Amino acid sequence: MHPQVSVLVKLQAIDLSIEKIEETKEEYPKKTELLKENLKEKRRVTNLKREKLEKLEQDRMREERILQQEIQRIEKHEERLLSVKTNKEYQAALKEIALAKESNSEREDNILNVLEELDALRKGLGEQEKDCEKTCREFEKESNELEEKLEKFERQLAQETRRREKLYSEIDAEVLRMYKNIRKGRHGIAVVRVKNEFCQGCNMYMPPQLANEVQKGIDMVFCPSCNRILYWKKNS
Ligand SMILES: [Zn+2]
Repeated sequence: MHPQVSVLVKLQAIDLSIEKIEETKEEYPKKTELLKENLKEKRRVTNLKREKLEKLEQDRMREERILQQEIQRIEKHEERLLSVKTNKEYQAALKEIALAKESNSEREDNILNVLEELDALRKGLGEQEKDCEKTCREFEKESNELEEKLEKFERQLAQETRRREKLYSEIDAEVLRMYKNIRKGRHGIAVVRVKNEFCQGCNMYMPPQLANEVQKGIDMVFCPSCNRILYWKKNS
């Protein structure tokens, strides 16, 4: 292989590896960010449910108090029944007691309904809280892992960058400039193998004479179709 091309093959592998690490490094925190948003939303919903439950519980207690007061009021009316003088007064008092009892019975039904609703809300809230805790644990785990992973990526990047610097010193400035230019327009691939007389970059068939030239490795050879730098490697 042409000596400069041989260095370029190694350089390209490192460049691709660096780009991959950088890409992963960018993408990785997004997962944690997503979990954080998810957790925030779940906590918001949980708080709303808790507030609703507390409010309903207060309503229930207020209704219970009123019910107790009404029961006492009825008892007083019933005591007074004993001391009324006329039949008219007696009938009026009886009517009042009946009305109060009817309204109390409605109140009791309402309280029962509220109690059922409270049960359902408590159950829902319990599940919601469990779900929140689960997401919270996932988030904490991801956050811890994220720090470790980012440190690992940084170490890898430093290592690859050192290797790249070393290779740079082995390449002619002109060849390096050419390599970088070709990479730009071709998805980061500037050096490609010729395999079975086909360019592995664009799949173009090589005239045997050209393929032969690549194999000799005396001059740098470019693909006539995609302009990439070609190299030959024994089939493996
Ligand atoms: Zn090609």
